[in-house]
Amino acid sequence: MFNKILIANRGEIALRIIRTCKEMGIKTVAIYSKADMESLHVRFADEAVCIGPAASSESYLNIPRIMAAVEITNADAVHPGYGFLAENASFAEICKQSGVKFIGPTADMINRMGDKVTAKETMIKAGVPVVPGSDGLLKDIKQGIKIANQIGYPVILKATAGGGGKGMRIVNQDSEFEHAWDSAKKEAKASFSNDGIYVEKYVEEPRHIEFQIVGDQFGNVCHLSERDCSIQRRHQKLVEESPSPFMTDELREKMGEAAIKAGKSINYEGVGTVEFLVDKYRNFYFMEMNTRIQVEHPVTEEVIDHDLIKEQIKVAAGHPISGKNYIPKLHAMECRINAEDVFNDFRPSPGKITSFHSPKGHGVRVDTHVYAGYTVPPYYDSMIGKLICKAQTREECIKKMQRALDEFIIEGIKTTVPFHQALMKDENFRQGNFNTGFMNTFDFKKLID
Ligand code: ADP
Repeated sequence: MFNKILIANRGEIALRIIRTCKEMGIKTVAIYSKADMESLHVRFADEAVCIGPAASSESYLNIPRIMAAVEITNADAVHPGYGFLAENASFAEICKQSGVKFIGPTADMINRMGDKVTAKETMIKAGVPVVPGSDGLLKDIKQGIKIANQIGYPVILKATAGGGGKGMRIVNQDSEFEHAWDSAKKEAKASFSNDGIYVEKYVEEPRHIEFQIVGDQFGNVCHLSERDCSIQRRHQKLVEESPSPFMTDELREKMGEAAIKAGKSINYEGVGTVEFLVDKYRNFYFMEMNTRIQVEHPVTEEVIDHDLIKEQIKVAAGHPISGKNYIPKLHAMECRINAEDVFNDFRPSPGKITSFHSPKGHGVRVDTHVYAGYTVPPYYDSMIGKLICKAQTREECIKKMQRALDEFIIEGIKTTVPFHQALMKDENFRQGNFNTGFMNTFDFKKLID
């Protein structure tokens, strides 16, 4: 087992990883930017190294500085968390070259899945259903329009390097194509320095259902069941739950098998997520694979009662997995608590938290790095925590979530708590009657007291 893990991340996930390391008797090193000096991950790690100023490019994305911190602290493994360098193949390779274990897949596996076009090609070869679309990247608008007509509108333009809902545009007819193309390309270039675009059929009224998988160094891959992440705003997840209210035993069997096939096709090592779109007839299509721990991993942890970070570290250290698939026994749901003003188009709301009380009680979990007196910096992601509830049934889980949200006090900044309170009251949501387009028509302000 590792002696010391450096956590190349910040916020709640850095703290989350430190917790498991402590329980496993592994020492931890936090890295932090000057904007994060007061962060809890800095306080709770055994050692902490300031690696630069606030800008991510100068700190959490700066590989030479992170490698210097690895060297001076003598860490023997690096945990990348999610975001930042978690899916950066060259970072994984540099760690390997430096004799430090990157807790995650190899550079080659990241390359084969990180690029969405390559991932789709791999899945087609493995016999996993994919959304119909272009064979690889589009050369120009003319070719794009031709393919759009072949597969039929509506279509979606997607950045091959895409992530976080960026670089995607829905196109309904030829006349909209050029504008969508230009703006998707521009956004992709700015966000990922890669403006490669492909097109696929826009699946109407789909659910976003993803499977958690885990693979070891011996070729075993199993799945830990699904999460439904259909409640999204601008392609970004707001609420996740397991099991999916849309799931049947038969569909889980088929999708689970496809997810395992996806993992096996690249000899996947580590925890990963295979994302699918599921249409109203329960046809499912591979969308992409995330080769890292996800924000929403606690939902799975709660329904199968396993620590996924621990699994991840054990697999990285060369332990075999049991190879058994897990089916949820309980219901769990996660609400993302963001520092955003929901009454103002979800605009980021950084600043000082003047008072903070987190909900507690049976079946309630809060993963957060913030506290009263903490200042949410404006430089990073606006997520400040996750509220996860579990119960015997979905109905009870929603009731518990309502109770927990009512107990949540965060003053000084605006948060997404009022939005979640409204969502929990919505009849369609309560009935499990929703798809990824839910937010287009959901008037949450009406449901706020
Ligand atoms: P990202 O990596 O940016 O998160 P994804 O490929 O995971 O991008 O897609 C994010 C979301 O965009 C999906 O959950 C879904 O809501 C929507 N989406 C992506 N592709 C399609 C498609 N072909 N049809 C319908 N919706 C799609």
